[in-house]
Amino acid sequence: MEGLAVENLVVKYGNVTAVRGISFDVKPGMLTTLLGPSGCGKTTTLRCIAGLEKADSGSISYDDTVLSGERQHVPPNKRQFNMVFQSYAIWPHMSVFDNVAYSLRIRKENKETTKEKVRKALGTVGLAQFEDRYGTELSGGQQQRVAVARAIVSSPKLLLFDEPLSNLDASLREQLRIEMVAIQRELGITAVYVTHDQLEAMSMSDEIILMRDGVIEQQGSPSDLYKSPTSSFAASFVGVTNMLTARLREVDSSGVARLEGDDGEVIYASGDQLGGVAPGTSVTVSIRPHDIGIDERLSGGANHNRWRGTVERALYVGTHVDAWVNVFSKSVRITASPQADLRPGSAIELYADAANVVAFVDKETSTAEP
Ligand code: ATP
Repeated sequence: MEGLAVENLVVKYGNVTAVRGISFDVKPGMLTTLLGPSGCGKTTTLRCIAGLEKADSGSISYDDTVLSGERQHVPPNKRQFNMVFQSYAIWPHMSVFDNVAYSLRIRKENKETTKEKVRKALGTVGLAQFEDRYGTELSGGQQQRVAVARAIVSSPKLLLFDEPLSNLDASLREQLRIEMVAIQRELGITAVYVTHDQLEAMSMSDEIILMRDGVIEQQGSPSDLYKSPTSSFAASFVGVTNMLTARLREVDSSGVARLEGDDGEVIYASGDQLGGVAPGTSVTVSIRPHDIGIDERLSGGANHNRWRGTVERALYVGTHVDAWVNVFSKSVRITASPQADLRPGSAIELYADAANVVAFVDKETSTAEP
């Protein structure tokens, strides 16, 4: 298989098992993100891929060559993988040019080729004018661009990013997200990116591997994770959502599920994840705030949920209004247009298309009762 293959990776530190037998592939040219809360094993996995950490069991291969395995451990400098760290790790006493040229000089690349490659890499990260500056004379964002130039200058097979934007302020983070993806796409380089920031993962990745407690909770494209979460952990980790509990009554022939909420209310949901699930089973329902409408024109569809409620509070945030509506004794969050009349205490109707209402048997809460 082309690209990176991680199989049954297990890593233990004393009696802490940081990674519990995970397997995944990273396809050539793709940016794959390991996403998850602090301590879930992302960095440990990345360090194993880099060869900086030895696994207790499992294997890591690239283009079918085993790099880490039962009797094999290719050292980091022989893997042709480069890493960009959160801490930039550039040498302050060296010029930008020398920082980027360092790995080529170690490899005894000739002077002219080195100059050409360094200038190209600095051009790619937008630092062509900065080659004589010293590390101490650069902003955080510029230092991280140097680190990226240093990582791409030797044309590695794989680029590894360990929370590279975490030390930057919000607007610079957003700018560098765009730049890094542009560089990765332009070079067609395969990348593994570690972050705990869902927005970063959603906006940058071709594929997201969501981790929790050393295992993979869910893997897929950003829209798979956002639109079709398979657990309450995944649904809430990748964006704001309303989570309800209900019981499955039936899935009809068109694939729409009829559920009964805790207060007896009927909820229509997508039956996509309920194939083979017995009626009576407890399910979790996730509805994103912007998938709930208040426009009466939405009320006509056969698969539309229609709920009466009372506005609890509404916060105007410029582009939209965040509002909370009391519906069958639950507080449901909606996203409405700034023009919407949402005075607290007023009665409104909410509409939600069943196709946007996700229902799944949650690993943590499922019990069956007829
Ligand atoms: P963060 O986002 O905070 O960096 P992470 O998802 O990258 O978290 P890891 O750093 O991989 O998580 O850590 C996974 C688990 O392994 C944690 O429980 C952590 O405390 C433990 N761990 C990591 N490195 C070591 C170490 N060198 N010695 C002992 N335990 C460790």
